[in-house]
Amino acid sequence: MSWTGPILATLAVLATAALGLQTYAPYGTTTAVGVALGAGSITAMSLALMLSARPPRVERLFGGLDRMYGVHKWLGIAALALMIGHNTIEPDLEGFVRETRVGEFAADVGEIALNGFIGLLLISWIKRIPFTRLELPWPIWRFTHRFTGLLFAVAAFHQLAIDKPADVDGTLSLVLNALCLAGLAAWLFTQFVAPFLRPRHFVLERIERHGAVTELTLRPQGRAMHWQAGQFAFVSAPGAGMGEPHPFTIASAPAADGSLRLGIKALGDWTRRLPARLAPGQRVKMDGPYGRFVFRPRVPRQVWLAGGIGITPFLAWAEALTDADQQQIALVWAVTTRAEAFAAERLAGIAARHPNLTLHVVASAEDGRLTAERLAGLVPFALRDAALFYCGPSGLRDAIVSGLKAMGQRPRRVHSEAFELR
Ligand SMILES: Cc1cc2nc3c(=O)[nH]c(=O)nc-3n(C[C@H](O)[C@H](O)[C@H](O)COP(=O)(O)OP(=O)(O)OC[C@H]3O[C@@H](n4cnc5c(N)ncnc54)[C@H](O)[C@@H]3O)c2cc1C
Repeated sequence: MSWTGPILATLAVLATAALGLQTYAPYGTTTAVGVALGAGSITAMSLALMLSARPPRVERLFGGLDRMYGVHKWLGIAALALMIGHNTIEPDLEGFVRETRVGEFAADVGEIALNGFIGLLLISWIKRIPFTRLELPWPIWRFTHRFTGLLFAVAAFHQLAIDKPADVDGTLSLVLNALCLAGLAAWLFTQFVAPFLRPRHFVLERIERHGAVTELTLRPQGRAMHWQAGQFAFVSAPGAGMGEPHPFTIASAPAADGSLRLGIKALGDWTRRLPARLAPGQRVKMDGPYGRFVFRPRVPRQVWLAGGIGITPFLAWAEALTDADQQQIALVWAVTTRAEAFAAERLAGIAARHPNLTLHVVASAEDGRLTAERLAGLVPFALRDAALFYCGPSGLRDAIVSGLKAMGQRPRRVHSEAFELR
């Protein structure tokens, strides 16, 4: 994870809060603290909306889109906490302002924004319903999440129109107005412009089913997409009734003609419907590339550990290897049954051409579970001298990493990709 983005976001929130504190200090401590909390909340909300617009090149400040969305989530939580604080330690400017009807109305709508945010952010935050295995369906989560921009507009109106002392320094208002404009513009862009502007068009060339996994081969039409092995894109096929964009790793190396492959496991409604809905010739949209889980050529000893469908970024990495890549690489693919390892032959072919790449498929139903000891036995070099790259369920990663630590084989670095964005 790169800390530049999170640090910059935290500093921005703290800076506006400090400006609020300083600007309103002459009107009493309670008022100054209340304004500082409100200013911090507006800043956090605005930044959260800006990040959700996925501005180009910004994700590298966070170390990938998944991490950027993680910061987006924490900014939302911070905004809510600060807003509750602002509502509790309410600025009291009686005697300093000439009350207007617009100002009173702005004070009232502040409450609406607060209550709305509490509801929406709770829905956004609670992924799984507590004490149950029930997950809030993604489409509902996504639908409710869209309204944050409207509530932000209400909060922006609150800060713009609330009665302020005539002699107060205007810098804070200027900064907050700019942040409100930027946040609203980002939200409008995300909702109404980006879905038409960003996607690239592809045609489905081939569709192959391997049990629960469907492989799609796509050929570009028009504007090409340039990606690095390991990146992902949001995929949709509105013409086939699959209009909701879902993220999938591009499971092939960049090709001269821009063609690419995806490996999609049936895990929920959308992915289960996919094989029946798509046929060769179908138009498919891709918005991307995103992500920073890319091959690091400068790391001399690498363990690539994949859990199930987590093999997709490594398929792209392996395909992208050239004769210049002399790193020692051990690819270990943990699956339940050997039949699940849909790309094992393809990987074996690549390993045959690259003697420095070793491949092991560990099928838990046949060979027993993959443990840290087992992994260390499969890798032809000491894990403590290597970097571990992991993609798969977080439980497997945590078990392996803590097992390796206990063995004194803690890898130098652990990089992982979460197939998870909220
Ligand atoms: C960076 C990244 C790369 C991925 N690469 C692959 C891959 O190569 N192959 C593969 O099979 N799967 C991949 N996934 C997972 C894949 O996106 C989900 O399995 C799929 O979106 C599930 O959709 P569903 O409606 O079928 O299932 P649901 O049961 O509706 O969703 C299961 C979970 O998937 C996530 N999800 C659902 N819809 C979306 C959405 N529109 N956008 C973001 N997340 C969503 C949510 O966390 C949800 O809880 C990747 C995910 C991410 C974040």
